[in-house]
Amino acid sequence: MAPFGNFFLPGPTEVTEDVLAAQTHPMIGHRGKGMEELLAKIQPSLQRVFRTTRPVYISSSSATGLMEGSLRNGARRRVLSLVNGAFSDRFHKIALACGLEADALEAEWGGIHTPERVAEALKGGQYDAVTVAHSETSTGALNPIAELARVTHAAGDVVLLVDSVTGVAGVPVESDAWALDFVLTGSQKALALPPGLAFGVAQPNILERARAQKGRGIYFDFLEFEKFTLQNQTPNTPAVSLLFALAKQLERIDAETLPVRWARHEAMARRTWAWADEMTARGVPVRVLAPEGYRSWTVTCLTVPPGKKGSEVNAAMKAKGIVISAGYGKLKDSTIRIGHMGEHTVAELDRVLAALEEVLTS
Ligand SMILES: *Cc1c(COP(=O)(O)O)cnc(C)c1O
Repeated sequence: MAPFGNFFLPGPTEVTEDVLAAQTHPMIGHRGKGMEELLAKIQPSLQRVFRTTRPVYISSSSATGLMEGSLRNGARRRVLSLVNGAFSDRFHKIALACGLEADALEAEWGGIHTPERVAEALKGGQYDAVTVAHSETSTGALNPIAELARVTHAAGDVVLLVDSVTGVAGVPVESDAWALDFVLTGSQKALALPPGLAFGVAQPNILERARAQKGRGIYFDFLEFEKFTLQNQTPNTPAVSLLFALAKQLERIDAETLPVRWARHEAMARRTWAWADEMTARGVPVRVLAPEGYRSWTVTCLTVPPGKKGSEVNAAMKAKGIVISAGYGKLKDSTIRIGHMGEHTVAELDRVLAALEEVLTS
């Protein structure tokens, strides 16, 4: 196995050996005492991660499942989707695919949504739900979700559905204090677990809406999640092996503490931005796509110098044994992305940046 510290995709992220190994635990029945004890142990740690006193739902699905679930349970009819990249665009497309009337409010890719502009769009009261990507993984931009929640609620009976897939556990997310009506993440990003689990927190107003929703389905029925989670159970057979990995990883996160984990992510992000500035000053223009003050701590999207292609830079890095990512969607060739999240450290990141410097200057 390659040594830890060479895999910097913006998801899935690198998983430590002990967490991978935890998945080899023998099977247990999902309606037995063993599972209840496991879930009872997991729950308080997850609540610390989400900064909530609400139960944290564990879904055996990828994050997209809970994006869809949030709309089926929490959106009544008309949705405003804040789009500023590929993942927020996906949220909009999911709303349409669920049969909702959804309008996209577009911001530049790399840019963010300001509370002023969202407040303006909500005037007139035609929307009952807003979707947003907190950390837009395709561009590295970080939306100001605390302020967006404030203006959403100021518009009346409107809920904010937050995709914080590359936010939670890597950048501050205060589910309760910021009154995020629904916030979700996936296992394979800043939580540094294998893919396959998603986590979400619904405030009571979402459950109230869910009760009146006809087409909310079964698999992502939040009323089912609520009921079973409170009993330390899951509505159906969970991905048992992943739950063992989760329990192990939450021990690591509890030991590190969330504020220290956030600070480690901030340090990696700042190191990357400073490196880009140094490179640019030395005549190798590498620009952080997202504006200062609105940059995610978990992923940086960098424009590559003229004459270089994102996919080629990516391949050259791979030849050095380091995995980063080309740009996403329409940014595929003009940018590269470094996922500095999960269990990585500044020391490992420095090796990535040194290799990237060689690739960009050769
Ligand atoms: C990775 C990602 C998703 C999709 O998650 P899946 O687990 O592939 O469903 C959604 N939103 C954001 C912001 C992401 O980074």
